[in-house]
Amino acid sequence: MNLDHSYATQLGDLGAVTKPLSVANPQLIEVNHTLRAALQLPASWFTQSSIMSMLFGNSSSLTKHSFAQKYGGHQFGGWNPDLGDGRGLLLGEAKDQQGNPWDLHLKGAGPTPYSRFADGRAVLRSTLREYLASEALHHMGIPTSRALCLITSDELVYREKQEKAAMMIRVSQSHIRFGHFEYFYHNGELDKLEKLFDYCFERHFSECLQAESPHLAMLEKIVTDTASLIAKWQAFGFNHGVMNTDNMSIHGITFDYGPYAFLDDFDPKFVCNHSDHQGRYAFEQQPGIGLWNLNALAHAFTPYLSIEQIKSALSQYEPRLMAEFSQLMRQKLGLYENNHTTAELVNRWLDLVSQDKRDYHISFRLLCDIDEQGAHPKLVDHFIQREAAQAWLTQYQQVIRAQGTNKQERQTQMRKVNPEYVLRNYQAQLAIDAAEQGDFTHFRTLLQVLQQPFESKPEYGEFAKPPPNWGKHMEISCSS
Ligand code: AMP
Ligand code: MG
Ligand code: MG
Repeated sequence: MNLDHSYATQLGDLGAVTKPLSVANPQLIEVNHTLRAALQLPASWFTQSSIMSMLFGNSSSLTKHSFAQKYGGHQFGGWNPDLGDGRGLLLGEAKDQQGNPWDLHLKGAGPTPYSRFADGRAVLRSTLREYLASEALHHMGIPTSRALCLITSDELVYREKQEKAAMMIRVSQSHIRFGHFEYFYHNGELDKLEKLFDYCFERHFSECLQAESPHLAMLEKIVTDTASLIAKWQAFGFNHGVMNTDNMSIHGITFDYGPYAFLDDFDPKFVCNHSDHQGRYAFEQQPGIGLWNLNALAHAFTPYLSIEQIKSALSQYEPRLMAEFSQLMRQKLGLYENNHTTAELVNRWLDLVSQDKRDYHISFRLLCDIDEQGAHPKLVDHFIQREAAQAWLTQYQQVIRAQGTNKQERQTQMRKVNPEYVLRNYQAQLAIDAAEQGDFTHFRTLLQVLQQPFESKPEYGEFAKPPPNWGKHMEISCSS
């Protein structure tokens, strides 16, 4: 069983071959065997001794072509060519049963030629957070990179305080970011930009080669995939927190988890990133920032496309996002028709939940229990504005009665898009605190809970509750 190394071998001058550097006492903590099997990787690779010798041994097979990819990015609106990839190595590409390629990427692999003065490491806290969140999103049906395995260590690194270093193997269609294209464009290395495009057409956007302008087709695909992703973030209440263009995947997937958060009490202006003083990446800003980022990416297409073509590609963003968002919202409310009344019901519902600062996810889950008629004190009592809630409920019941749908069927469908369990930051923090003491039980329990987010289980009651006050609206440090 061998991996492919297409990026390192075809695009060798777009980065640097680099070996991972082992850490003190590396320990394999968790393996995502479902994902491993889907990628047709042998289970025998993922034991303590084989994975360590494959990653750090002298004749290691996994790292023959391990490769640090160079990219840049717009960070908080400003261009920065001096980042990426200072701590991640592409190990190679596996294939799933359909023959699709998937990158294996080792995060926290140690210094690379691009690390500058930093240590090339990732901390246990941030790898655990990424592992948990990417599994949570994946099982909610939101496209995302995934975690294949987690390795902890006794190596201490310094962030705001001393922390344990860890590594994670991350899986994604590719690790190509908006910032890859931007870097070679802004650096004036147009020959490398062209090689990157050719590679992407061959490997990831082959369907675009049939189009009159493959570059236009590719840009349109990235625009619409990104719109569709952000519609899902907005509908499921996910705040990414650091939407710099180096953290944006060309595959329209959730990528590069930092100070993310799922909403607790619904505040559209919520900012999870402790360093984001202006609220640039606030929850409600995400749709606009997505377009801003696509604009930044589009600059790298200017050698191939006219301004009119670029404008026409970008103009697909907003309608796609709005259409998908409202469709998801109707599904979450169990509304089947797309008309003025249902749109208004959705908006008034969101207003109620946000004005009364109710828990976003619990509010939706409550709705799943509503009948076509009758009083629903549990719902009305959920709000401070009880009269407004009652008025809304009356109209909602009218509409679902008029739909004439089977009640059971509607409720079953609603429970499939309104998760009972989302990853609460405070729960992630409890898992981290224990893991830092060497106890991964809570991390594993959380993983199990999040892998079936829509199915209510009495034994997981604790995880369906709203967070305690200390655990609400936690702002998370950017350091990782
Ligand atoms: P992030 O905040 O994880 O998106 O990282 C931004 C960029 O900084 C990435 O390109 C990383 O490779 C780089 N970086 C972050 N932390 C480190 C580190 N400890 N050592 C070297 N490079 C890093
Ligand atoms: Mg990043
Ligand atoms: Mg990151």
